[in-house]
Amino acid sequence: MENVTLTTNKPSLSTNDILIVDDTPENLRLLSKTLIQEGYKVRCAINGSMALLTIKAKLPDLILLDINMPDIDGFEVCQQLKKSELTKDIPIIFVSALDRTFDKVKAFEAGGVDFISKPFQLPEVLSRVNNQLNIQNLRKQLIQKNQLLHIEIYNRIAAETEIRQLNFDLERRVIERTSQLEAEINERLQFQKKLEYLAWNNSLTGLPNRLWLVKQLKQLLVRVKQKPQNEFGVVILDCNRFKIINDSLGRQAGDKLLAMISERLRVEITNQNTDLTHFGEDKFAILLENIQDQNQTIALAQKIQQCLSRGFVVEQREIFITSNMGIVICNSNYLEPEEIFRDADLAMQKAKTSSSHYYKIFDTTIQNNALEILEIETDLRIALRRREFSLNYQPIICFNTGKIKGFETLVRWKHPEKGFISPGKFIPIAEQTNLILPLGMWILQEACRQIRIWQERAIDQENGFTVSVNISAKQLEQEDFIVQLDQIIAQTGVDVKHLKFEITESLLMNNAAIADRVFTQLKARKIQLAIDDFGTGYSSLSYLDRFPVNTLKIDRSFVSRLDEKNQASTIVKATLDLAHNLGFDVVAEGVETKEQGEQLKDWGCEFAQGYFYARPLDKDSAWLFWQENLAIQPEFGLS
Ligand code: C2E
Ligand code: MG
Ligand code: MG
Repeated sequence: MENVTLTTNKPSLSTNDILIVDDTPENLRLLSKTLIQEGYKVRCAINGSMALLTIKAKLPDLILLDINMPDIDGFEVCQQLKKSELTKDIPIIFVSALDRTFDKVKAFEAGGVDFISKPFQLPEVLSRVNNQLNIQNLRKQLIQKNQLLHIEIYNRIAAETEIRQLNFDLERRVIERTSQLEAEINERLQFQKKLEYLAWNNSLTGLPNRLWLVKQLKQLLVRVKQKPQNEFGVVILDCNRFKIINDSLGRQAGDKLLAMISERLRVEITNQNTDLTHFGEDKFAILLENIQDQNQTIALAQKIQQCLSRGFVVEQREIFITSNMGIVICNSNYLEPEEIFRDADLAMQKAKTSSSHYYKIFDTTIQNNALEILEIETDLRIALRRREFSLNYQPIICFNTGKIKGFETLVRWKHPEKGFISPGKFIPIAEQTNLILPLGMWILQEACRQIRIWQERAIDQENGFTVSVNISAKQLEQEDFIVQLDQIIAQTGVDVKHLKFEITESLLMNNAAIADRVFTQLKARKIQLAIDDFGTGYSSLSYLDRFPVNTLKIDRSFVSRLDEKNQASTIVKATLDLAHNLGFDVVAEGVETKEQGEQLKDWGCEFAQGYFYARPLDKDSAWLFWQENLAIQPEFGLS
């Protein structure tokens, strides 16, 4: 708001304008002369009417007013002037011959400020005029100051009002901003809570996550250090074949199933002593506090197994899942949660490869095994580069003729420091680490190269002579397996009628779709197929019917127990009967004694492979064995 200011001019004495009203010209002359001499501006009027007109034309600063005048008397003039807002403040000094007190009182009542009696004394007139003008000036100054004061008061009130308004606005804005900030803070708190929730929980299942478990384990590890009797158990649970569920039914269905699994576990497993966490993907972890002995963890594993054995209905399908568990009993030897996870994982891997147990409790032999596996893995990588592998060929003998029917190719690894390492040890590791892919291709190429050599020398004359090559499931799963095979066939010039692939029955069970696709291609190339280690898996003969199989190889675990006249004999006999019904021939693996050979021959087994006939031989020894076998008529296994 703008300040109001006063613009009125200050009156100056020198310019004071005096009106003299008198019907006596002599008085007028005398008074005006005197006053003009004193520096005043003087106007004159000879009667009341003229006086009023003159005043209207221009307001004087002071009026000397005669009372007795012919038209309107001085009292009347004075009263009229006092009535008007414009003129009421002009000081009027009556100058009159009327000298009675009554007249003087009347003059003052009419509004006069002073009274000068006629005949007047000029000095008195001057003095009284001066007085009145001074008073008038002071009055004007007072009014002006008053006005200024008013303006100032007005300005102050305005300023205060403005300040009050500003304060009000400010307060309103502070309130608004405060509530805005409160909302923002609230939002941030919510967000922070959400972040915190996400940090500690799995968003799919809502269960505490691995990070949470790590935090808990750190606390428990501190506690078990202080009180070693406070051991606790950690069970890591891995749902099997989850990838297949995701691949076949879609990720969404997989997620639903995971949520159902976690809910079932939560309801049936969790209590005040056990905490369930979603460890990641299809893995869960269960923390079991204050355990007395490891039987408690076994009981929990059994309960979990039972709980998950019932089917889950996902998208109108009933799905059954199996699981493996790795259990660690945590004592004060553990320093970090990661060590517990490492051991639980090792135990779980062990459980996976075990046919009898779905859970395993970690112990040091598992760790030593794991270390050995790790070492072999590293060495395998180097061995591939350094070409430390070679192939052996174990003869397969025909029971009827005693003649060699073919060889099985068996890879050999001569480690520069550790010597020969059994394929039974390194092949599973090569499979786990996918090193079987380059190694397997090398073996296939090498075998084909060798067949080509033998093919040129002699074997073409031999009827149905085959060299078997073990092919791992991992190799067959490769999209380009057939392309690579064709390349090898083309490069080596092998005649594929001498080539036979040995595949374990577990491949047929687990990857029937892949087996179908690859076997059709193999059949088209006339490559023969043998099912290796038959009887160790779960396949039924009727299941084999859908695949273009030529040969079954009965696993040596059955052959070695033949003498004992136990169940193995029944299984071998039944296998032989059924295999023949399906049109397969049978190779008995691991024949070590004459008796075993005779028994198998009696039951109609066509072929034998085993130390009784020959051990796996290097390529030159294999060739020699072959030549000798052709030259003489061996009595191997013949009665
Ligand atoms: P497999 O394919 O069943 O091979 C037969 C195994 O039985 C060979 O062991 C062989 O030496 C052994 N064997 C043969 N006759 C007898 C016998 O009379 N008594 C005993 N105790 N054993 C006998 P090896 O060479 O140690 O191979 C073990 C396994 O390693 C093989 O079982 C096969 O699964 C795998 N393997 C070996 N070479 C290769 C290969 O080149 N590629 C692939 N993928 N796997 C291979
Ligand atoms: Mg084999
Ligand atoms: Mg075998």
